[in-house]
Amino acid sequence: MITDLVQIKRLGEQKRPENERFRKHLKSHGFVERNFRAKAEEIEAEIDCTVCANCCKNATVKLHDRDVEKLSKFLRIKPAQFLRDYTQEDEEQGTVLKFEEGKGCVFLDGNDCTVYDARPQICVDFPHLVRGNGTIPFRMWQFIDRATYCPIVYNALEAYKEMTGFKR
Ligand code: SF4
Ligand code: SF4
Repeated sequence: MITDLVQIKRLGEQKRPENERFRKHLKSHGFVERNFRAKAEEIEAEIDCTVCANCCKNATVKLHDRDVEKLSKFLRIKPAQFLRDYTQEDEEQGTVLKFEEGKGCVFLDGNDCTVYDARPQICVDFPHLVRGNGTIPFRMWQFIDRATYCPIVYNALEAYKEMTGFKR
């Protein structure tokens, strides 16, 4: 299992073309989804997200209305103030949490999430291998990028290649 973030970045980038081929492989064969989820659960159990927090430094967080309600309540401010002070507009994703390149999410302090109990649903479910709508083969496009910064995703894709007899 590789957890070093420098290595994950290097290997994840290096394996982008291979992971693209793997995506096609998954889509053109039939696999049992619950085996993928079970393997991801095993890998999640071995990785401590509280010492990693790399997704909070690399990925923007799209917000839904219920996230805005929950976070405003948690911070004891009005939703309008929350939107003004803690969010920004993204061309593709719409309203997202404020994010600074090199620093990450506005609520990240060191490796700690300062709104942990009220964090958006996307953060609760991340990296969406165990919890996520749709099958993993059809959501593989999301995981190629995540494999460059998330140890859970990187190691899960490597395990899936073994499980499915994918030729590298
Ligand atoms: S809200 Fe918390 S868990 Fe979500 S990206 Fe920001 S710091 Fe990370
Ligand atoms: S989900 Fe992935 S990137 Fe985020 S903290 Fe856990 S291992 Fe790190």
